[in-house]
This record gives sequence, C-alpha cells and structure tokens, in this order.
Amino acid sequence: MRYVIIGAGVAGLSAVEAIRSVDTAGEIVMISDDPFGYYSRPGLAYYLTGELPDKALFPRTKEHYQNLNFNFLKARVTRILRSDHAVLVDGKSKLSYDKLLIAVGARAMPLEVSGASLDGVVKLDHLTDARHIMSLARRGKTAVVVGGGITALELTEGLLARGMKVHYLLRGDRYWSNVLDKHESHVVEDRLKEEGVILHHKAELKEITGKRGRVSQVTLQDGSIIKCEMVAYAVGISPCLELIHESHLAKDRGILVNEQLQTTDPDIYAAGDVAQVYDPLTGKSVLDSLWNPAREQGRVAGWNMAGRRAAYLKSAPFNVTRLAGLTTTIIGVVGRGKDDDLIGIARGDSETWRELPEAIIAQSGFDVNHMRLMVGEKTLVGAIVMGDQTLSWPLQKMIAGRADISSIRDRIMQPDAPLADLIAQFWMTWRTEVAL
Ligand SMILES: Cc1cc2nc3c(=O)[nH]c(=O)nc-3n(C[C@H](O)[C@H](O)[C@H](O)COP(=O)(O)OP(=O)(O)OC[C@H]3O[C@@H](n4cnc5c(N)ncnc54)[C@H](O)[C@@H]3O)c2cc1C
Repeated sequence: MRYVIIGAGVAGLSAVEAIRSVDTAGEIVMISDDPFGYYSRPGLAYYLTGELPDKALFPRTKEHYQNLNFNFLKARVTRILRSDHAVLVDGKSKLSYDKLLIAVGARAMPLEVSGASLDGVVKLDHLTDARHIMSLARRGKTAVVVGGGITALELTEGLLARGMKVHYLLRGDRYWSNVLDKHESHVVEDRLKEEGVILHHKAELKEITGKRGRVSQVTLQDGSIIKCEMVAYAVGISPCLELIHESHLAKDRGILVNEQLQTTDPDIYAAGDVAQVYDPLTGKSVLDSLWNPAREQGRVAGWNMAGRRAAYLKSAPFNVTRLAGLTTTIIGVVGRGKDDDLIGIARGDSETWRELPEAIIAQSGFDVNHMRLMVGEKTLVGAIVMGDQTLSWPLQKMIAGRADISSIRDRIMQPDAPLADLIAQFWMTWRTEVAL
C-alpha cells in the first residue's frame, strides 16, 4: 500500500501520524514545495515580533519524523493523473498512489493594484515571507499595511516591533467590522493608536509607486500620498485549487469532501485549508481556514485512508488570537448574521470576572475584559472573549455542545446582567450534567 500526501502543513503531518497509528507497514510519501517543511504558521506572527525564536516554529523532533518512517520529497506536484492513480511531480516524474491526500492549504490573495510587484511589497504567508519582511524592515522607516483581518494586524504589530512607523489603511469606518462590534473595533483601534499606529479609515489604495524598482510611496483613492519604504498586505486567502482543475473532483470554494474527508474519488481525500467540509451547525459546506480544524481533518483523513473508519464532526470554530496585544477568543458565529433571531449581548470590563466559582481558575492583570455572546433561541451560538480568558473554554464547550440555556436566557438578556457570573454558574451545573 502506498499513501501519497501532498502538503507538509499541519493537515498533511497529522495524516501521516494517523496513518502510522493504524498501518505500520505501508509506504508513506509526503511531497511539499515549502523548503522548510512542517512549521507553525500561526507562530509566524510572533516570530515577526521577535517573541518566538526560529527554533520554536519547528515543534517536532528529528526522532519524531524518524519514528513515523515516511519519505519526504521536496518537490511540487503539478498534476493529479486519476486514470493512472498517480501524481506528476515537478512536471516530469510520475509517482503512483493507492490512497492520495490533498492537503495543499490556502494562499494569500494577491494585491491587485498598480505597483504590487515592486520590491518592498510583502505578505505574511510562509516562513520565507516572514524572513523576507525581517530582511527589509528598517528602524525609523515607514510601512503601509493594507487589509482588514487578523493577519493585517499581525503585520502591523510585527513591523511596529521592528521599529517601523506604520500607517494602517482600513477600507471601512472601523477595524474588522464583519466580526467585531463597534465597541470591540474601537478597543482594538485605541490600543493601536496608543502604540503609535496611524489609522486611515475609509482609505483605499490606488497605486504604489517606486524608485529604481523599490517602493517609495502609495497613493490613496482620495488622492493623498504616503511616503513609505514598504507595503504589507493581507487581503484574504484562497484555497489552492489549481491541482484539481483538470481532475474533475467536485469543488466549490474548496474541494468538497464527505464526513470521511473523501472527495468524489474514493481513493482521494482532502483536508485542511483546501477542503470544504460539511457544517452541521449551518447545514452548509464551509471552509475553516484554521489550525486546529486542519489538524483534526488531517487525522480523520489519515485514519480513513488506512482503513479505520472515522467521521469528521465539525465543531464550532474556535480561534484564540491576539488583537493589538489583547488575547481574544472567537467562538462560533459572531459576525453579522442574517438570522434575526440571533441577539448579540456585550458586556465590558467587570469585576465579576475575578469572582468565579472555585473550579474555574480566575485570571487577572488584564487592562480590558470584554465578553459578547450571540444568543439563539435556546442555545449560545457564538461568543467573543477579550482579555481575561477564564470563560473562553467553558463557552466553547457550551456552544459546541449546544447547551440548552433556556433556564438563564431571560436573565442573560436583562440590561446590566452579571453575564460572567451567570455563565460561570450555568457552566458549573451543565458540565456535571454532561459529565465533562
Ligand atoms: C500568518 C498566519 C497566522 C495564522 N494564525 C492563525 C491562528 O492564530 N489560528 C489559527 O487557527 N490559524 C491561523 N492561521 C491559519 C493556519 O495556519 C492554517 O489554517 C493551517 O496552517 C492550514 O494547514 P494546512 O495543512 O491545511 O495547509 P498549509 O499549512 O498551507 O500547508 C500546505 C502545504 O502544502 C504545500 N503545497 C501546496 N501546493 C503544493 C503542491 N502543488 N505540491 C507540493 N506541495 C504543495 C505547501 O508548501 C505546504 O507545505 C494562520 C496562518 C498564517 C499564514
């Protein structure tokens, strides 16, 4: 039996680990075109700020790889030849498979303005990008950051930490308005301003111009000009689908897979950022684009490839990140939903955060504590927790487990309700009932 895994990201590596846990004899070949193989991509942001050293990005030891007993091919798969049960490597050699996993991830979408190919226009997608940014960043020089989500903020913080003056261009009138509410956006923006970031609202990039091939300034749609040496962008990601264009596997925005992570070809699986999985919460097939789901999908795909039947049950998305230095957990549905029956409740800083029942470890020392809950008819469907993270894990469990909150719903909805207390008390009872 030969298993071929395309991609050395977290989905690809988890699949190798899962296959080996079932099949100790089969041949495994992993192919990746990233010269650094497997590393922590979320760690890149902290690498850029200087908080993580190079070594910390590579959490697996040599022994771990040796024990997995697989062959690693540093190459690019250029085609999937389904009728031959083979992949084409670097456009020339064929490698046959019995089971194939496509775990090629997603990539940063390009910046589509004039001047985007100038030296000094950068993105943060791979380790190579982080190193490139670090080689160009100069203390006292100026960068312009473009993009509305987490990665743009990570770029902003990374460049600030490297001593650059940063202009941050926001398309709308506030930061990340499709996920954060007004208060949350302003918390983040205020912190950025305190750190010295110059924010430009309703600002759209028109063109980048350069001197001798290097960035020298940007022009905005309103005609204003910002002199700069760097333009860093993060304007979205898209799954790498080019490999399957000629393969006739079913796709939508990503490769469509069933619960076993199987594509429309039973010998080909897909996992991670490239896969579009069924979401029981919404009844739709969705892209996750997150580290933990990619790892879990890789694992489930690997088991199925090796013959152990397993299903990927998508749980509520859960992302712990840092927004302008503020630890923030985003769980489930928090953005502007279309459902009118979803009510968002937000509470600001509260002392009750530190007066929780014994079994929950209270944390302190955060200058901003904020929690917002998205309340459905009987369940919580999403939450944002900023600052003190005491309740983020309980909330994730309650949202993923669809805890029936009818008994506290009315009290939660009261203005000035002690939200954290109510949630903490409910959690203590619920966790016993469901034996967590
Ligand atoms: C800067 C940054 C910060 C992030 N922060 C967070 C975070 O805080 N929390 C979170 O949950 N997620 C975060 N993510 C997202 C997370 O890293 C991804 O969801 C996860 O890495 C996806 O894993 P994957 O294995 O599907 O794909 P990838 O990690 O993209 O791996 C894909 C692999 O496929 C290889 N490949 C692609 N095409 C080919 C080909 N044709 N031939 C051979 N090899 C190929 C690539 O070289 C790579 O090795 C972040 C991502 C970035 C870039």
